[in-house]
Amino acid sequence: MSDTTGDAATTFESVDADTVEAAREQAANAQRVVVKAGTNTLTDDDSNLDREKVDKLVDDIADLLADGREVLLVSSGAVGAGSGRVDYPSDTVEEAQALSTVGQSHLMATYADSFGRYDRKVAQLLLTETDLDDSERFTNVTNTVETLLDWDVVPIINENDAVATEEIRIGDNDMLSSSVAIGVGADLLVTLTDVGGVYTANPKHDASAELVEAVGSNYAAVQETVEASSEVTFGGIQTKVHGARAASEHEIPAIIGKSTEESVLAKIGDGKPVGTIFVPTNGESNE
Ligand code: GLU
Repeated sequence: MSDTTGDAATTFESVDADTVEAAREQAANAQRVVVKAGTNTLTDDDSNLDREKVDKLVDDIADLLADGREVLLVSSGAVGAGSGRVDYPSDTVEEAQALSTVGQSHLMATYADSFGRYDRKVAQLLLTETDLDDSERFTNVTNTVETLLDWDVVPIINENDAVATEEIRIGDNDMLSSSVAIGVGADLLVTLTDVGGVYTANPKHDASAELVEAVGSNYAAVQETVEASSEVTFGGIQTKVHGARAASEHEIPAIIGKSTEESVLAKIGDGKPVGTIFVPTNGESNE
């Protein structure tokens, strides 16, 4: 592997082409897909839930459903949509929690309506860290999910922000989506974001930043650069990288892609290159 990606701040070894191709093919063949959508994917600059953005996401998911695949959506946006709905700040944890409850119901009503365009029903699951850590509770969750999928209902999952102060402060849906993907035996995790992948430097500040096409054997170098080049912001690229990596270590290909890219999920379903793919490591950590 002498190829390199990027001439910006850091140079990464590329994952070899056959490995990337095999991972894309595995992603294309996925039957059970977890899609994670961040707040920016759903709201406008004034924090209002953006119906066009929601519809675009739902259109993309409908492409996968039309192929007969199962899709679980992990959706953020509760606190964001709540801020757009009532004129209160989210300065304290209590305020953010209260806003999440305003936004979550609005979010679900919007999803119900948007999926209704495809004659699809949706279900809401609100989880906390405890539900993931306690095996009995998690089994109950997965049993519910299996039943919903059998019924062709789309499970929409978020953190239960009203009871999970820890999640609001340091948790994020990047790790939640990864845990859900592993727990329900998904074949693919797709994280949709406004950035659209992992870069050799911070693309918001550095014009020479280049997209890293694949992460696998180069993980340690990629992680180092991401940590050095990005601020530790809530739901930032660092947690997306950790979440995607965790899934790929459980043999689940994980893709970080741009939410605004046209037919982004259909492209993945066709095996086309999208964003950054984390190739399944089959248990090897490669660090
Ligand atoms: N659960 C939070 C929300 O829906 C956000 C979590 C995240 O963005 O990762 O607003």
